[in-house]
Amino acid sequence: DMKIADFDPELQAAMDAEVVRQEEHIELIASENYATPRVFEAQGSALTNKYAEGYPGKRYYGGCEHVDVVETLAIERAQELFGAGYANVQPHSGSQANAAVFMALLQPGDTVLGMSLDEGGHLTHGAKVSFSGKIYNAVQYGLNAETGEIDYDQVEAMAVEHKPKMIIAGFSAYSMVADWARFREIADKVGAYLMVDMAHVAGLIAAGVYPNPVPFADVVTSTTHKTLGGPRGGIILTKGGDEAIEKKLNSAVFPGGQGGPLMHVIAAKAVCFKEAMSDDYKAYQQQVVLNAQAMAKVLIERGFDVVSGGTKNHLFLLSLIKQDITGKEADAALGLANITVNKNSVPNDPRSPFVTSGLRIGSPSVTRRGFNEADCAALAGWIADILDNMGDQAVIDGVKAKVLEICNRLPVYEK
Ligand code: PLP
Repeated sequence: DMKIADFDPELQAAMDAEVVRQEEHIELIASENYATPRVFEAQGSALTNKYAEGYPGKRYYGGCEHVDVVETLAIERAQELFGAGYANVQPHSGSQANAAVFMALLQPGDTVLGMSLDEGGHLTHGAKVSFSGKIYNAVQYGLNAETGEIDYDQVEAMAVEHKPKMIIAGFSAYSMVADWARFREIADKVGAYLMVDMAHVAGLIAAGVYPNPVPFADVVTSTTHKTLGGPRGGIILTKGGDEAIEKKLNSAVFPGGQGGPLMHVIAAKAVCFKEAMSDDYKAYQQQVVLNAQAMAKVLIERGFDVVSGGTKNHLFLLSLIKQDITGKEADAALGLANITVNKNSVPNDPRSPFVTSGLRIGSPSVTRRGFNEADCAALAGWIADILDNMGDQAVIDGVKAKVLEICNRLPVYEK
């Protein structure tokens, strides 16, 4: 019964070092968050032992009476939180939730219309390297170069031209408010299904600070670990009332693409959904948006280009084309000062996806550890200092000292 520390010190050291890294770095990766100790508690529980293929009340294994309660709680809470008539809480990840929807509604070779990766979409929205672009005939829309907003006229023109069987809305790097109703209109015009992948903004939607796509889409997918702040995982929702689609979705998740559900993770999803119903959570999500806006404002004042001109959610893209700094260089320079971001392609990026000309900056993690707008404004100033003085070690050292100070003042987890 040795603990990991005694049984496997090598592994323990790496795990401990990661905890220290999370405490001592400012995390600006827009898709990350800090799960609560209650989420850890569920994920570290004996529920990991249980096989429960099937769905509550219809399992292929015995002994499922308690995990049935767990999964039913998760389903009911997901439905309540997002105003959904149907929820599947079994997808192991966001990508697997999306794969299940493709399998449920499409045949191999069918045409799908999604947002391109380099303009803000996700791999699973039709990128060539993903199942979604390999097995299906994917065509891709992007942003209006002038406004930096989704080019709805292009979406409509491509829909009319290509007659997709499914249109995919949703994004990994878009800072504006998506017009779900407009997507619905376009889908109806060409008789396509509308799938919305709300992974990035699910927490904002749960708190009512971003429009809910559930009433507009045929199917909504999400991850549970980004703004939502729960365990790593996926969910699928619909507004309900279409049993045929619900049946297809359930079959596509299990047995279509997965075996046994991760019951410990489903318990953690149930915890997260309950946490998301509180007033504190609403205040947190409101602060997420205010903090992203505070950072974007300072960076714009300091002369940087923000794609779409600002942000209405938890993230924004900094374009460094004008400064002639690559995303890769900027990411590395900020990393030296304990500020973690990710390089990101920007619209019309002249550089490859491995190099890029931009950074994606998100506020969910810093907000969870207690940063307010003043903290975020200061942080954006430090980022500008580093980017304005690339290669200047004294600037990096100065910023790193301030980063360590604020990380110490606002710990992620109580010690
Ligand atoms: N959908 C969107 C919009 C995402 O941004 C992501 C993750 O980055 C995913 C799906 C995939 O989620 P996962 O990493 O859990 O497969």
